[in-house]
This record gives sequence, C-alpha cells and structure tokens, in this order.
Amino acid sequence: MHKKKKGLNTICTHTGELEDKQYKGAVSPLYMSTSYAFEDVEVKRYPRYFNTPNQEGLSKKIAALEHTEAALIFGSGMAAISTALMAFLRAGDHVVLQRTLYGGTYNLVNEEFDKFGIEYSFTEGMKPADFETEIKANTKVIYIETPSNPLLTITDLDAVAKIAAKYSIVTMIDNTFASPVNQNPIDFGIDIVIHSATKYMGGHSDICAGAVASTQENMERIFNLAKNFGGSLSDYTVWLLERSIKTMGIRVKAQNEHAQKIAEYFYRHKDIATVYYPGLPSHLDHELAKSQMSGFGGMLSFELNEGFDAPQFQKALRLIKPSMSLAGVESTVLSPAQTSHYLLGEEELKKQGIKDGLIRFSVGIEETDDLIADIEQALDEVRSKPVAVDD
Ligand SMILES: *Cc1c(COP(=O)(O)O)cnc(C)c1O
Repeated sequence: MHKKKKGLNTICTHTGELEDKQYKGAVSPLYMSTSYAFEDVEVKRYPRYFNTPNQEGLSKKIAALEHTEAALIFGSGMAAISTALMAFLRAGDHVVLQRTLYGGTYNLVNEEFDKFGIEYSFTEGMKPADFETEIKANTKVIYIETPSNPLLTITDLDAVAKIAAKYSIVTMIDNTFASPVNQNPIDFGIDIVIHSATKYMGGHSDICAGAVASTQENMERIFNLAKNFGGSLSDYTVWLLERSIKTMGIRVKAQNEHAQKIAEYFYRHKDIATVYYPGLPSHLDHELAKSQMSGFGGMLSFELNEGFDAPQFQKALRLIKPSMSLAGVESTVLSPAQTSHYLLGEEELKKQGIKDGLIRFSVGIEETDDLIADIEQALDEVRSKPVAVDD
C-alpha cells in the first residue's frame, strides 16, 4: 500500500533509530563493538564495512532526508567527496567541476588527480551552458556545489541534471551549504548528494563527519571503494551525529530566518557596500534559488564600505567569533581571501569575484537583535580607525 512519506522533523527525530529492546530507553543504544559474532556468513559486521548497527541506522535517516534509497557515513566531508568521485572515475576519464568549489575539493582535484591520470576541467561560469561546453567524449562526472562558497551563487540543478542525462554523465553535488532542510537535489535529477556533516548536520562544531546519499546501485559502487579506502566514522561519533540531526530541521530553519533578517539589515545599512544572500530579491540568482530551495540557508557574505578595515572589524566583534568552520549554532565570520580561499591565489580569487574585504558570515541561532548589536558596536569601534596601508 502507498505510505505517505514522513515530514522533515519526523525523519530527523525518528527515522533509523535503533530500538532499546532491553531497557526501552528513549535514544538509540550505542554499539561500540568492532567484532560481531557471525549469525550467517552473509552479514559480516565491521566498522570499516560501514555496517555496524549505529552506522546502518543513521544511514537510513540521511537517505530519507535526501529523498533517496541509501547512504554511507564517512570520517569527514573530504572522505565522502574523494570516495564518491574516485568511485566513478578511473585513469583516462574526465570530470567537469564547477569553478567555485570548497577549497578542500579544489585541492583534492588540483593536487591528486594528475597522479591517477584523471582529467578535469573547471567551468568558466556557473550557467548550465558553462557545464555543457566543458563536456568531452570521456567525461564521466559533473560535480557542482550550490549555494557556492563564499558568494552564494546558485547553480541550476534541473538544467545541469538534464544536460548530464543527455550525455549519460553522473552528477554529484556538494549539498553542505544548503543542508537537506533547504535543498533536496535528488528531486531535481541530480544523482549523488554529498555532505560535510561537520557543518549543518552536526551543527554544534564538535563533530567531523561526511555523508553520501544516492540509489542503492550507486551506493554499492561507492561502498566497494569506501571499504578499501577505509574512511568510515567511529560509532561514538555516528551516535552523536544521530543526536545532532534530530534538531537539524529546527536549527536550520532558525538560521534561515536569522540570516534573512541580517541580510535585509545589511542591505539597508549605510556602512555596508554589498551583501550576498540568495534570499534577497537583489541577489542575481534569487528567482532560481526560490525555484529549487525551500529555505535560503544560514550563510551570507558582505563587503564593508571603503574606509573600513575588514580584519579590524572582525577583531572588534565580541559575540560573533572569527572562525574557520561554519554552520554551528554559534555565529562565526571569516575572510575567505585570507583563510579558506587563500590557496587559490590572487588571480583565481579575482576571477571568482572574491575581494580582499569580503567577509563570510555563518549565522547562528543567537537572537538576531544581539547579533546586530554586536555588528554595530564593532562598526563603531573601527569607524574611527584608519585603514592600514601597506606599500
Ligand atoms: C567543510 C566543507 C567540506 C569538507 O568537509 P570536512 O568535513 O571538513 O572534510 C566540503 N564541502 C563544503 C561545502 C564544506 O563547507
């Protein structure tokens, strides 16, 4: 019989939970065993086979969250990304990658792929035609990331999926910035969804993990490599991640709301030159974002007016912390040109439109009024200070 799919927060809270048959406890029991007696020779449970009870339970939750059949949980987002890519690429193959990528993914491709004889091209822009142009006879994978980091550009999921289907190319997306709360790429025809669970899934800046979700068939292919690469996640952290995801829906919705309010506030602010947030009608891809996202996320970026020193401004913040990571319940900021995107080099930064003074803001769950008050006091503090000139 047809069974109606469960809603977001019900999946977050319950899907994949393990029953405590012994004591009827409210939460999934944690199984730390690395060794399990054979019940039959078919199931050999072992953490690196990604099939301990806690791993299997959480995989079901993540697959349900991404509207697909199966998932695997990894020791980091990069373990998930590298394993997914390498499962579908071999020497002589070619991959098309979106130009604006998470720094670690860019480094993986740039530093490692030559060794394996894998060819790659980065797109010129982020329009569907930019992807089609790069396709060659040996292209096996198209890899995208939307919203992108740090300018929050939006890639058209449906259009890229259609182009890929035309050439029988597998599509992969890094869905970290949106989280499954705001975007389900499988519904738009994307084949494989990847997450750094270190971010919104974990949400409390205390878990490093990754996840891949897709059809049973695709996930079997990824599993076959994953068990050899060995990037599984400790069961203790799997269990913590399951707990974190229970509140992901309400956390991320609060972050959407706060980011929208702050983006609108920045938009009207006399000291702020530009704000990039897909939820603003002024954002170049706002209409596209509306068509494929159910919320616009907790990430935004902005540039202060000339005359304001961006590093000084960040130092003057008290509640909001300068920090490398993102997506926690606490608000953080960073300068991409000096930190996360530093390795790209000046020319590439320019090409991507990442200015020196750009500040990326990961909006947390604190009261918006307190965040705005912190921004105002920091602006007041640096308003009087001259910008440092290096010559
Ligand atoms: C953090 C991040 C990653 C890498 O994840 P790790 O868990 O640090 O390995 C990949 N993609 C995006 C968009 C990220 O923000």
